[in-house]
Amino acid sequence: MSLNRSQLGKRLAHIERELAEIKQWLAPKRMLSLYEAIPPESVCRDLLSKMRGISSYDGFLAALSDYYRVLPMKLIWDKHDTWMPQAKAKSVAAYFSEQNAAYTRKATVDRETVLHEYFHHLVAHNVVAVGGKKDEEKAADKFAALILERGGQR
Ligand SMILES: [Zn+2]
Repeated sequence: MSLNRSQLGKRLAHIERELAEIKQWLAPKRMLSLYEAIPPESVCRDLLSKMRGISSYDGFLAALSDYYRVLPMKLIWDKHDTWMPQAKAKSVAAYFSEQNAAYTRKATVDRETVLHEYFHHLVAHNVVAVGGKKDEEKAADKFAALILERGGQR
């Protein structure tokens, strides 16, 4: 492969843009409070528009991770109830930070649940700071409610 000067210049510019983005991702970030973590209205609307029904949240979860710049969270239907017994008996879903995954007992889950579990993902990845485990549960509910409200879904 041989490239002329102009092609090399373009490639270099491309590499420099990518490098700048990588540096931004790696830079230490200040942890956000619950309220700081709620995206602006236009972003909430855009994120929520990526939800396709109640059985596929893939596009939505990918968009959330792009926005918060964290590893994607997987949402897994625990058909055989393998993981859920480790969570509270009545829980519909539970987040496991070591797997970057939320498991659910149901094939379909509501938006509140997905956003609630995603909040645990943000806490696990030091994006959002909370006081303690009990605060985290309440804050996760609030996070879900605020995003749906700001996105015009309430
Ligand atoms: Zn929870």
